[in-house]
Amino acid sequence: MGILEVKNVNKRFGGLQALGDVNLSVAENTCHAIIGPNGAGKSTLLNCLIGKLIPDTGSVMFDGQSVLGRKPYQINQMGISRVFQTPEIFGDLSVLENMMIPIFARRDGAFRMHALGQATREKDIVEQAEDMLESLNLADARHDHAAAMSRGNKRRLEIGMCLAQNPRLLLLDEPTAGMARADTNNTIDLLKQIKDERDITICIIEHDMHVVFSLAERITVLAQGTPLVEDTPDKIKGHPKVREAYLGE
Ligand code: ADP
Ligand code: MG
Repeated sequence: MGILEVKNVNKRFGGLQALGDVNLSVAENTCHAIIGPNGAGKSTLLNCLIGKLIPDTGSVMFDGQSVLGRKPYQINQMGISRVFQTPEIFGDLSVLENMMIPIFARRDGAFRMHALGQATREKDIVEQAEDMLESLNLADARHDHAAAMSRGNKRRLEIGMCLAQNPRLLLLDEPTAGMARADTNNTIDLLKQIKDERDITICIIEHDMHVVFSLAERITVLAQGTPLVEDTPDKIKGHPKVREAYLGE
Protein backbone atom coordinates (compact mmCIF):
# COMPACT_ATOMS: atom_id res chain seq x y z
CA MET A 1 0.00 0.00 0.00
CA GLY A 2 1.50 3.30 -1.11
CA ILE A 3 1.23 6.60 0.74
CA LEU A 4 -0.67 7.80 -2.33
CA GLU A 5 -3.19 5.46 -3.98
CA VAL A 6 -5.08 6.56 -7.07
CA LYS A 7 -7.74 4.10 -8.27
CA ASN A 8 -9.73 4.19 -11.50
CA VAL A 9 -9.71 7.96 -11.77
CA ASN A 10 -11.61 9.41 -14.73
CA LYS A 11 -11.89 13.06 -15.67
CA ARG A 12 -13.70 14.55 -18.66
CA PHE A 13 -13.70 18.10 -19.97
CA GLY A 14 -16.84 18.15 -22.13
CA GLY A 15 -16.21 15.61 -24.88
CA LEU A 16 -12.54 15.16 -24.01
CA GLN A 17 -11.53 12.28 -21.77
CA ALA A 18 -8.49 13.85 -20.08
CA LEU A 19 -8.00 10.93 -17.66
CA GLY A 20 -9.21 7.39 -18.31
CA ASP A 21 -9.01 4.82 -15.55
CA VAL A 22 -5.81 6.07 -13.97
CA ASN A 23 -4.30 3.81 -11.33
CA LEU A 24 -1.20 4.92 -9.52
CA SER A 25 0.51 3.81 -6.34
CA VAL A 26 3.33 5.91 -4.92
CA ALA A 27 5.46 4.19 -2.25
CA GLU A 28 6.39 6.17 0.85
CA ASN A 29 9.80 7.86 0.87
CA THR A 30 10.44 7.30 -2.83
CA CYS A 31 10.66 9.64 -5.77
CA HIS A 32 8.07 8.73 -8.39
CA ALA A 33 8.04 10.50 -11.76
CA ILE A 34 5.11 10.88 -14.12
CA ILE A 35 6.13 11.49 -17.70
CA GLY A 36 4.26 11.67 -20.97
CA PRO A 37 3.74 13.86 -24.01
CA ASN A 38 2.03 17.25 -23.90
CA GLY A 39 -1.68 16.89 -23.30
CA ALA A 40 -1.28 13.41 -21.75
CA GLY A 41 -3.19 14.50 -18.65
CA LYS A 42 -0.27 14.92 -16.22
CA SER A 43 -1.33 18.29 -14.82
CA THR A 44 -4.96 17.19 -14.73
CA LEU A 45 -3.94 14.22 -12.62
CA LEU A 46 -1.92 16.40 -10.26
CA ASN A 47 -4.82 18.82 -9.94
CA CYS A 48 -7.05 15.90 -8.92
CA LEU A 49 -4.60 15.10 -6.12
CA ILE A 50 -4.60 18.58 -4.61
CA GLY A 51 -8.30 19.39 -4.81
CA LYS A 52 -8.10 21.85 -7.72
CA LEU A 53 -10.12 19.40 -9.80
CA ILE A 54 -12.55 16.69 -8.72
CA PRO A 55 -12.42 13.42 -10.66
CA ASP A 56 -15.70 12.26 -12.23
CA THR A 57 -15.15 8.78 -10.80
CA GLY A 58 -12.47 6.94 -8.86
CA SER A 59 -10.68 7.43 -5.57
CA VAL A 60 -7.58 9.26 -4.34
CA MET A 61 -6.27 8.14 -0.96
CA PHE A 62 -3.40 9.77 0.93
CA ASP A 63 -2.11 7.83 3.91
CA GLY A 64 -5.37 5.90 4.09
CA GLN A 65 -7.65 8.95 3.92
CA SER A 66 -9.63 10.16 0.93
CA VAL A 67 -8.65 13.58 -0.40
CA LEU A 68 -11.78 13.82 -2.56
CA GLY A 69 -14.24 16.47 -1.49
CA ARG A 70 -11.61 18.34 0.50
CA LYS A 71 -10.52 21.88 -0.32
CA PRO A 72 -6.93 22.52 -1.46
CA TYR A 73 -5.96 24.08 1.89
CA GLN A 74 -7.36 21.05 3.75
CA ILE A 75 -5.37 18.69 1.54
CA ASN A 76 -2.33 20.83 2.21
CA GLN A 77 -2.95 20.42 5.95
CA MET A 78 -3.06 16.63 5.45
CA GLY A 79 0.59 16.85 4.41
CA ILE A 80 0.58 17.38 0.64
CA SER A 81 2.48 20.36 -0.73
CA ARG A 82 2.84 21.28 -4.39
CA VAL A 83 5.13 23.32 -6.62
CA PHE A 84 3.72 24.68 -9.86
CA GLN A 85 5.35 25.53 -13.16
CA THR A 86 5.59 29.26 -12.45
CA PRO A 87 7.35 30.16 -9.20
CA GLU A 88 4.94 31.40 -6.56
CA ILE A 89 7.14 33.65 -4.51
CA PHE A 90 6.72 37.32 -3.60
CA GLY A 91 9.21 39.18 -5.78
CA ASP A 92 8.97 42.47 -3.88
CA LEU A 93 9.77 40.85 -0.54
CA SER A 94 13.20 39.79 0.61
CA VAL A 95 14.24 36.16 0.47
CA LEU A 96 14.07 36.01 4.28
CA GLU A 97 10.57 37.55 4.39
CA ASN A 98 9.38 35.00 1.83
CA MET A 99 10.69 32.18 3.99
CA MET A 100 8.99 33.57 7.10
CA ILE A 101 5.55 33.28 5.47
CA PRO A 102 5.10 29.47 5.57
CA ILE A 103 6.76 29.25 8.99
CA PHE A 104 4.35 31.82 10.38
CA ALA A 105 1.41 30.12 8.63
CA ARG A 106 2.38 26.72 10.03
CA ARG A 107 2.22 28.11 13.56
CA ASP A 108 -0.92 30.22 13.19
CA GLY A 109 -2.81 28.10 10.65
CA ALA A 110 -2.97 30.96 8.15
CA PHE A 111 -1.01 33.92 6.93
CA ARG A 112 -2.17 37.42 6.00
CA MET A 113 0.24 39.78 4.33
CA HIS A 114 -0.25 42.45 7.01
CA ALA A 115 1.09 39.94 9.57
CA LEU A 116 4.54 40.09 7.98
CA GLY A 117 5.57 43.06 10.14
CA GLN A 118 4.68 41.03 13.21
CA ALA A 119 6.55 37.97 11.92
CA THR A 120 9.73 40.00 11.36
CA ARG A 121 9.70 40.97 15.07
CA GLU A 122 9.34 37.39 16.29
CA LYS A 123 12.76 36.00 17.02
CA ASP A 124 11.95 32.31 16.66
CA ILE A 125 10.24 32.82 13.30
CA VAL A 126 13.21 34.78 11.98
CA GLU A 127 15.61 32.14 13.34
CA GLN A 128 13.68 29.25 11.81
CA ALA A 129 13.55 31.08 8.48
CA GLU A 130 17.30 31.74 8.63
CA ASP A 131 18.03 28.08 9.44
CA MET A 132 15.90 27.00 6.50
CA LEU A 133 17.72 29.40 4.17
CA GLU A 134 21.02 28.08 5.49
CA SER A 135 20.04 24.51 4.60
CA LEU A 136 18.95 25.69 1.15
CA ASN A 137 22.28 27.46 0.59
CA LEU A 138 20.43 30.76 0.27
CA ALA A 139 21.64 32.43 3.47
CA ASP A 140 23.85 34.92 1.64
CA ALA A 141 20.87 36.13 -0.39
CA ARG A 142 18.54 36.59 2.58
CA HIS A 143 18.27 40.38 2.30
CA ASP A 144 17.99 40.43 -1.51
CA HIS A 145 14.70 40.97 -3.25
CA ALA A 146 13.37 37.54 -4.23
CA ALA A 147 12.76 38.89 -7.76
CA ALA A 148 16.49 39.50 -8.20
CA MET A 149 17.46 35.82 -7.84
CA SER A 150 18.29 33.42 -10.67
CA ARG A 151 15.49 31.12 -11.82
CA GLY A 152 17.19 28.20 -10.14
CA ASN A 153 17.38 30.02 -6.81
CA LYS A 154 13.77 31.24 -7.09
CA ARG A 155 12.75 27.61 -7.52
CA ARG A 156 15.04 26.67 -4.62
CA LEU A 157 13.29 29.24 -2.41
CA GLU A 158 9.85 28.12 -3.53
CA ILE A 159 10.59 24.45 -2.84
CA GLY A 160 12.02 25.48 0.52
CA MET A 161 8.82 27.39 1.32
CA CYS A 162 6.89 24.17 0.63
CA LEU A 163 9.25 22.17 2.84
CA ALA A 164 8.79 24.65 5.68
CA GLN A 165 5.23 23.31 5.91
CA ASN A 166 6.72 19.87 6.75
CA PRO A 167 4.85 17.98 4.03
CA ARG A 168 4.96 14.19 3.76
CA LEU A 169 4.31 14.33 0.02
CA LEU A 170 5.85 16.95 -2.25
CA LEU A 171 4.26 17.26 -5.71
CA LEU A 172 6.07 19.10 -8.48
CA ASP A 173 4.65 19.97 -11.91
CA GLU A 174 7.53 20.48 -14.36
CA PRO A 175 9.74 22.33 -11.87
CA THR A 176 12.51 22.89 -14.43
CA ALA A 177 10.35 23.91 -17.41
CA GLY A 178 12.02 26.68 -19.41
CA MET A 179 15.16 26.67 -17.28
CA ALA A 180 18.73 26.90 -18.51
CA ARG A 181 20.86 23.84 -17.78
CA ALA A 182 22.66 25.42 -14.79
CA ASP A 183 19.34 26.29 -13.12
CA THR A 184 17.98 22.82 -13.88
CA ASN A 185 21.04 21.22 -12.27
CA ASN A 186 20.63 23.51 -9.25
CA THR A 187 17.07 22.20 -8.88
CA ILE A 188 18.11 18.56 -9.32
CA ASP A 189 20.78 18.99 -6.63
CA LEU A 190 18.24 20.44 -4.20
CA LEU A 191 15.75 17.63 -4.79
CA LYS A 192 18.52 15.05 -4.29
CA GLN A 193 19.48 16.75 -1.03
CA ILE A 194 15.85 16.70 0.13
CA LYS A 195 15.58 12.98 -0.67
CA ASP A 196 18.74 12.27 1.31
CA GLU A 197 17.96 14.41 4.33
CA ARG A 198 14.24 13.98 4.87
CA ASP A 199 11.57 11.36 5.20
CA ILE A 200 9.52 12.62 2.32
CA THR A 201 7.79 11.23 -0.73
CA ILE A 202 8.31 13.13 -3.97
CA CYS A 203 6.03 12.87 -6.98
CA ILE A 204 7.37 14.81 -9.94
CA ILE A 205 5.84 15.53 -13.32
CA GLU A 206 8.67 16.26 -15.65
CA HIS A 207 9.38 16.62 -19.32
CA ASP A 208 13.16 16.71 -19.05
CA MET A 209 14.43 13.12 -19.08
CA HIS A 210 17.74 14.18 -17.53
CA VAL A 211 15.83 15.35 -14.46
CA VAL A 212 13.66 12.23 -14.37
CA PHE A 213 16.57 9.81 -14.63
CA SER A 214 18.58 11.77 -12.04
CA LEU A 215 15.87 11.50 -9.40
CA ALA A 216 13.16 8.92 -9.91
CA GLU A 217 13.06 5.40 -8.51
CA ARG A 218 9.79 4.60 -10.29
CA ILE A 219 8.37 6.11 -13.45
CA THR A 220 4.82 6.07 -14.74
CA VAL A 221 4.32 6.91 -18.39
CA LEU A 222 1.00 8.54 -19.11
CA ALA A 223 -0.30 8.65 -22.68
CA GLN A 224 -3.71 10.03 -23.68
CA GLY A 225 -4.88 10.06 -20.09
CA THR A 226 -4.00 6.47 -19.28
CA PRO A 227 -0.90 4.90 -17.70
CA LEU A 228 0.96 3.09 -20.45
CA VAL A 229 3.64 1.49 -18.31
CA GLU A 230 5.16 1.83 -14.84
CA ASP A 231 8.63 0.61 -14.02
CA THR A 232 12.16 1.46 -12.87
CA PRO A 233 14.15 4.04 -14.87
CA ASP A 234 16.35 1.34 -16.46
CA LYS A 235 13.37 -0.61 -17.73
CA ILE A 236 11.59 2.54 -18.90
CA LYS A 237 14.61 3.65 -20.92
CA GLY A 238 14.55 0.52 -23.03
CA HIS A 239 10.80 0.02 -23.24
CA PRO A 240 9.69 -0.08 -26.90
CA LYS A 241 6.22 1.34 -26.17
CA VAL A 242 7.80 4.25 -24.30
CA ARG A 243 10.29 4.97 -27.03
CA GLU A 244 7.44 5.02 -29.51
CA ALA A 245 4.91 7.02 -27.49
CA TYR A 246 7.14 9.37 -25.62
CA LEU A 247 10.56 9.62 -27.17
CA GLY A 248 9.06 9.64 -30.67
CA GLU A 249 11.09 6.73 -31.97
P1 ADP B 1 -0.27 17.67 -19.63
O1 ADP B 1 -0.06 18.32 -18.32
O2 ADP B 1 0.12 16.23 -19.67
O3 ADP B 1 0.38 18.42 -20.76
P2 ADP B 1 -3.06 18.41 -19.22
O4 ADP B 1 -3.46 17.63 -18.03
O5 ADP B 1 -2.76 19.84 -19.02
O6 ADP B 1 -1.85 17.67 -19.96
O7 ADP B 1 -4.21 18.31 -20.31
C1 ADP B 1 -4.80 17.07 -20.71
C2 ADP B 1 -5.88 17.37 -21.73
O8 ADP B 1 -6.97 18.00 -21.09
C3 ADP B 1 -5.43 18.31 -22.84
O9 ADP B 1 -6.06 17.90 -24.05
C4 ADP B 1 -5.94 19.65 -22.38
O10 ADP B 1 -6.20 20.49 -23.47
C5 ADP B 1 -7.23 19.28 -21.66
N1 ADP B 1 -7.56 20.19 -20.55
C6 ADP B 1 -6.80 20.42 -19.46
N2 ADP B 1 -7.41 21.25 -18.61
C7 ADP B 1 -8.61 21.57 -19.19
C8 ADP B 1 -9.71 22.40 -18.81
N3 ADP B 1 -9.73 23.06 -17.64
N4 ADP B 1 -10.77 22.47 -19.66
C9 ADP B 1 -10.77 21.79 -20.82
N5 ADP B 1 -9.77 20.99 -21.24
C10 ADP B 1 -8.70 20.88 -20.44
MG1 MG C 1 1.05 20.00 -17.70
